[in-house]
Amino acid sequence: MTQSTDTLLGHPKGLFLLFGTEMWERFSYYGMRAILVLYLIAAVETGGFGWTNSEALALYGWFTMAVYLTPVLGGWIADNVLGQRKSIILGGILMATGHFTLGTPQAWLGDASESAFYIGLILLCCGNGLFKPNISTLVGDLYQEGDSRRDGAFTIFYMGINIGAAIAPLVVGYVAEVINWQLGFIVAGFGMVISVIMQLVLANKYLGEIGVKPSAHGISTEGAAAAKDTPLTAEERDRVKVIVIMSVISIVFWVSYEQAGGLLNIYAKDFTDRHIFGWEMPASWLQSVSAIFVVMFAPVFAGLWTKLGDKQPSSPRKFAFSLLLVGIGFLFMVAATMQQDGDLNVKVSVLYLIVTYMFLVFGELCISPIGLSLVSKLAPIKYLSLLMGVWFACSAIANKVAGVVGGLIGEGPEQINNALSIFAGLAVSGFIAGGLVLLMADKLVEWMHGAEAPTQVEHSELDQDPI
Ligand code: GLN
Repeated sequence: MTQSTDTLLGHPKGLFLLFGTEMWERFSYYGMRAILVLYLIAAVETGGFGWTNSEALALYGWFTMAVYLTPVLGGWIADNVLGQRKSIILGGILMATGHFTLGTPQAWLGDASESAFYIGLILLCCGNGLFKPNISTLVGDLYQEGDSRRDGAFTIFYMGINIGAAIAPLVVGYVAEVINWQLGFIVAGFGMVISVIMQLVLANKYLGEIGVKPSAHGISTEGAAAAKDTPLTAEERDRVKVIVIMSVISIVFWVSYEQAGGLLNIYAKDFTDRHIFGWEMPASWLQSVSAIFVVMFAPVFAGLWTKLGDKQPSSPRKFAFSLLLVGIGFLFMVAATMQQDGDLNVKVSVLYLIVTYMFLVFGELCISPIGLSLVSKLAPIKYLSLLMGVWFACSAIANKVAGVVGGLIGEGPEQINNALSIFAGLAVSGFIAGGLVLLMADKLVEWMHGAEAPTQVEHSELDQDPI
């Protein structure tokens, strides 16, 4: 694989280009996402669609699911037709067009404004499918098999994701709510345009040839003939098995984690005392807490993995920790609801939520970048982006299930008891799943066939593997 050998902070410079590209793409995505529901429920006179809460949340659930399902197709297209680099550009252009479609003034569209809105969302789903798995696999392509910097690299990349996610709601949310909705979507669209321009201008310099050719057709000139029609070896099949099992395990994590935007958001609004020095902060502000924690703690985790080098825990163990951490996090919510003792009027300290978010983020940092890294190191090269798509598809399922689970809170006086049961259920499921993954960890590591044991492998030999 050919790429620029220049390094920065011990990593190839290309990592920082991918960091910037993804930061701006996530800025556009999370900016749009932050205002989507608000736009739908805003009264028609204020430029919104005047939908009910449940209509808006239902669409939101389907949309956030669809956005993470299309990466399976986008991954396949990159592996077989376009290569990752062209897929990213095309996906970025589609997403920018989607944002600008949402941002077209309703006055220009007249009766067509609702149709234009749906077309915008479809463009976003298709664009994300082409962009998201392929930018992630490119990060992995910067490293040789067995390179212990890989998890650290994905954690740095993940920080880029969350810088975008932390800033976007503030900027796009402000423009949308203070000036107008359409301008909010347009600002989000400009983030996407910056991301595409960065790729167009800098990719050749910093990424060299990686991702230029579809990987199923061979990525290196010498090995080009090998890849396409060769059946998978037994080792490769084992590695695919590990990817699929770990992706399915991630569903348990994301179902809990994604309560942040739904149930925990409602809990923040209705049952949390948000006063600071007599001033009450908006509940939605707590939505940026997780992204801020990721930006704060990602360097700590990246540094930890890099420092531990070959001694760091295996990916399955990191996954197990993430589930246990989620379990611990929800114990704080159990304590919060117990303090309410069934009384709808008791408002608990905001610290419960903040500590819960902190544990969810610790868990996130042990699973989300690690999962990306895992797929990139285990996937047979011709299925690399497709399997990255499978990883995201599990997030899609989890997003939908999370909405259903959060919705169990219901209405009326039973809400506190229902919340208590949901939080306790999520804590217990985290502990059980974490315990099971710990038990399975050795087997999973065995099926990885040395992918995480660089001392047993010689890079030069692996480079010649006919995959
Ligand atoms: N927050 C991360 C992102 O936007 C993770 C998404 C996911 O895998 N569910 O990239």
